[in-house]
Amino acid sequence: MDKVKVRIAPSPTGSFHVGNAQSALYNWLFARKNGGDFYVRIEDTDKIRSTKESENGIREALAWLDLMPNGDFVRQSDNLHKHKELLERLLSEGKAFYCHHSQEDLEAERQQQEARKEAPRHFCEHKNTDKNKIPGGIIRLAVNESSGRIISFDDQIRGRIEFQEALLGDFSIARAIEDPLYNFAVVADDAEMGITHVIRGEDHISNTPKQILIYEALGFKIPFFAHLPLVLGLDRSKLSKRHGGTGTLDYKQDYLPEALLNFLGGLSYTFSKEIITKEEMVNEFELGKIHKAGAVFNVEKLNWINSQYIKQLNNLTIKQLTNLPEMLDVAIPLITERLNKLSDINDFSYLWKEPSYDSELLNWKKFTKDEITNSLNETKRVIENWNGSDKDSLRLALDDLSKKLGDPSIPLGASRGLVYWPFRVALTGKEKSPDPVDVAAILTKETVLRRIDTAINKLP
Ligand code: GLU
Repeated sequence: MDKVKVRIAPSPTGSFHVGNAQSALYNWLFARKNGGDFYVRIEDTDKIRSTKESENGIREALAWLDLMPNGDFVRQSDNLHKHKELLERLLSEGKAFYCHHSQEDLEAERQQQEARKEAPRHFCEHKNTDKNKIPGGIIRLAVNESSGRIISFDDQIRGRIEFQEALLGDFSIARAIEDPLYNFAVVADDAEMGITHVIRGEDHISNTPKQILIYEALGFKIPFFAHLPLVLGLDRSKLSKRHGGTGTLDYKQDYLPEALLNFLGGLSYTFSKEIITKEEMVNEFELGKIHKAGAVFNVEKLNWINSQYIKQLNNLTIKQLTNLPEMLDVAIPLITERLNKLSDINDFSYLWKEPSYDSELLNWKKFTKDEITNSLNETKRVIENWNGSDKDSLRLALDDLSKKLGDPSIPLGASRGLVYWPFRVALTGKEKSPDPVDVAAILTKETVLRRIDTAINKLP
């Protein structure tokens, strides 16, 4: 058995899609599982659309996800001389030819086929004549028009897939001798790199029979193919910009790389547990167990997975990731219990800096400003008598205060608001927060008193 060699072949023409990241992960897992190599080949032969910025983005995304290849990145453009050599060989062997038909001829042919409800394809009547040897025009592979052959391959995920050779036509493989098209370049490069398994998106299934014919024409060994299901948006169409972030790096600010990998891994594969490391995925991974159906990129699920990873982070890492060295260590558990995304940490900024809020927020329901001011003054007294750490005693004291201030005819729950609402706002500047008693225990007694004073002074 040949050593397993796999690759991803992203085109540097935009951001590195999360579907590409998933493809990188499954290739990486397969290589690891089988003691093989994982490569990255930048498919940069489309000179107009390829950018250095996009290539850098691919590098950054793979480095962030820790899916780095064996060896350096390979560039398709570095192989152009090889592509030319192979094209020349096919031309000299009569397996490929220059097609001199004009765009108009081809368009007229296409319209006729459409009218006859036939698959659009071009069989060139000149391919076996001397005319095809005159350089110029696009280069096509010579396909047998009257072939009854069924081209088939055993997709490692989907099982047998079949195509009729006669429906392919003499398909194009290069725009010119120095300008190969995807189907040709991909075969030349995969063969050159000794790729044993081509694991890529299902949008390439229809390219596969063409690539098989190119492998055969060149006399190269055909690799195994495995086509991954699409990553879908919530409406089940292919995940695109209108669904939200599609670029892997769009997730860098808010998500941990381990969480995104865990999520992408579980998107099209059922592992034995929901929270799973990359190394554990390697142990369980089997190519044939990847799902066939497209999977919905559900951000809620990603958030949940992320929250599980955030809870496991140590204090130093949290401070570094959020760039908040001033955050109090005692505050961290209270926050990490509640974070889905890293940037949500800003909702808790009152734990390390004074909150800013509008005085209106201190009012609760039907109570008057005097009642609120009174409640805050009484709360201040309770805090002055508190030891600054015992949460139970503070709760009891605030409950007693609620009873004292509230209407005796209404249940305690209802009168609590008069005490807890302004107290919460004074401490956090927010209408929703963790229990203000928990917050008070994190802030020092001095800070709590100062914030209550600030609140009282805000009220006219
Ligand atoms: N450049 C192609 C893509 O990004 C590569 C497809 C393949 O893996 O063969 O879709």
